Amino acid sequence: MKDQKITNQDDLQSFSSLSESMEKLDLHGRKCLIPEMNRIGCNLLAGAFRGFGIDASVMETGKGLDLAMEYSSGKECYPCHITLGDILYYLKQEKKRLGDSFNADNYVYFMPEADGPCRFGMYNKYQRIVLDSFPDLKSLKIASITTQDGYSLDKMMGKRVVRDFRKAVFLSLMVGDILDRILWRIRPYEKEQGMADDFIERAMTCMADAFEAHSAGKDFNGIHNKLEKIIKEGKEIIDPDIPRKPLVGMVGEIYLRSHTMANQDLIRTLERHGAEVVNASVVEWVNFISYNRLRSAKIGLRLNLKLFRLHEVLAQLKSVASLTGELWYQEYRQKYVYNMARGILDIADDHQVSHLERVLKKESIFDFDIGTEACLSISGILEYAQNGYNGVVNVYPFTCMPSTVTSSVISPAMNRRGIPYIDTPYDSGVQPGREAAIRTFMYQANQHMKRHGRKKTSVIEK
Ligand code: SF4
Repeated sequence: MKDQKITNQDDLQSFSSLSESMEKLDLHGRKCLIPEMNRIGCNLLAGAFRGFGIDASVMETGKGLDLAMEYSSGKECYPCHITLGDILYYLKQEKKRLGDSFNADNYVYFMPEADGPCRFGMYNKYQRIVLDSFPDLKSLKIASITTQDGYSLDKMMGKRVVRDFRKAVFLSLMVGDILDRILWRIRPYEKEQGMADDFIERAMTCMADAFEAHSAGKDFNGIHNKLEKIIKEGKEIIDPDIPRKPLVGMVGEIYLRSHTMANQDLIRTLERHGAEVVNASVVEWVNFISYNRLRSAKIGLRLNLKLFRLHEVLAQLKSVASLTGELWYQEYRQKYVYNMARGILDIADDHQVSHLERVLKKESIFDFDIGTEACLSISGILEYAQNGYNGVVNVYPFTCMPSTVTSSVISPAMNRRGIPYIDTPYDSGVQPGREAAIRTFMYQANQHMKRHGRKKTSVIEK
């Protein structure tokens, strides 16, 4: 690959492809490549895409890190390296497989972005520049969705079905969260080692097929019914004679906490040292984006009302109404599916973002006005503490800005409460003292449970 690297600096400097080849484009007719973040959720998402006629699949992850290192400076965030490596490795394998008939125009790389003060908004642009440095990869398109418009999927699908597509995508991410929660609930108590992992692999394939079969017809009941059967099967794996273990809550940067290779399988490591873990969900982030957009629209509306700008007030009213509807739908659907799941197995409920903002306001140590994932992590930790968790882990890429802020703000608050807390930053290296730190943390979590017990698995009680 390296010998094909382009040397024409004009081409690199023009950056024209940043707008031309990175856009919201119709996903049909090309192979849609999804980078893996949380394995289950991404596979269900690909199933939902296929249900709408998009030839989508999740790329193998973690094998292209060396390739990524060749084309990066080392200063980028770790998730940027992993995703860059995944796309480069995938295309390299495709070139090997197809030889001269390889054509990058046949693929579209699906890479979301976020606006805000940190580097996530630049991943896809940076990756575009790297891809453009290979003449035969220039025509590969990047389909980019952004937090600026609440990850709107308009233009990726015909107007007639884009709403249904959005609903199916949301549901796939949420069911992915629920399957993860089932795994974390049953694996520490499985009757035989390996049962939970085998079960969840089968469950993931089965639910991905369900999304492929039922998404386009809006047959969400077909999906719910499959999920219900899976939860009942999963419950049988629990050995009722194994006593409940210390409950550990996890927060942090979304990619790192969801990607098991990137976090060196932290949940499994904690379980090996005697924990039952609940990680923050992926849908929490999606709801946070919707919530923040609604929050900003309301602030704009109040301001325009004060200034008596009638034209703007009308536009803002429309926007507030539509964003309220969007958030209401997401929370309603989430509550419905979680209630069904929790009626069978006591998995942890999910946070409601408005509740988290109230938690943060009450404590007065951070504010949603500051933004970033730190809002969710700090309030999520306070909520775990409030709900009787026995310890909290903050997991993030080395040098991650919002997570470093989280750590500095929350550490004293956890100290005051006497709740074990640990920061676990990751890059591609292995920290020699990590295992010992986790063992010590788990000792403290055990002591905490002995003194205070375990209150409830539910995260939200509104
Ligand atoms: S959230 Fe952290 S890891 Fe992600 S781009 Fe921002 S600084 Fe990097």
